[in-house]
Amino acid sequence: MNVLIIEDEPSLSRNISSYLLQSMYVCETVATVSMAKAKLDHASYDCIVLDIGLPDGSGLELLRELKQKNESDGVVIISAKNSLDDKLAGLGLGADDYLTKPFHLAELSARVNAIIRRRSFDGRNVITLDRLTIDLLCKSIRVDDTELSLTRKEYDLLVYFVSNKNRVVTKESIADHLWEASVEMTDSFDIIYSHVKNLRRKLMEAGCPDYIKSVHGMGYKFSLA
Ligand code: CA
Repeated sequence: MNVLIIEDEPSLSRNISSYLLQSMYVCETVATVSMAKAKLDHASYDCIVLDIGLPDGSGLELLRELKQKNESDGVVIISAKNSLDDKLAGLGLGADDYLTKPFHLAELSARVNAIIRRRSFDGRNVITLDRLTIDLLCKSIRVDDTELSLTRKEYDLLVYFVSNKNRVVTKESIADHLWEASVEMTDSFDIIYSHVKNLRRKLMEAGCPDYIKSVHGMGYKFSLA
């Protein structure tokens, strides 16, 4: 799950990023509208944390452009102004949520969580699939009644696979979603390969069928059949 933080106050941006990182989100940060546009041209995000007052423009304008392009990224606006106009404008433009500064990081994290859950899993916190139970709030996975011990990347991968059940996910899209842009594409493919291999082994050792199939030359597909 990846989050783009668009916020020009360096300390707030850092705090949000390190807090969300603890919740297993990959975060990228930018401080201006133009930097945000450059990022959004090349990637999509599960959630965008968007400040309104940015040095080179308004977050609301950026939101308008984003929604005109029909981008499906979730958006939570963070604003210093407790202005009803801004709030209505933001929600009217298609933001999912609005938080007034100052806020507790736990509150922001809960809102981000809720947006991602709503978009990926119709708002459910616990997903049961065949023998798997995924608790998105506790970030835990059980096979039947046994808790599976996964690394953070393996957990992220599994949730990403499950949210794309029966669809082929390419290595490029896995790299986009789960790894920082700084990792070279070719390096990240090797990394993805070994994480998928480990995840698959852990699932099968716990007694699961082979849910994660390699699709030759393309990527992987999670399916129950
Ligand atoms: Ca600002």
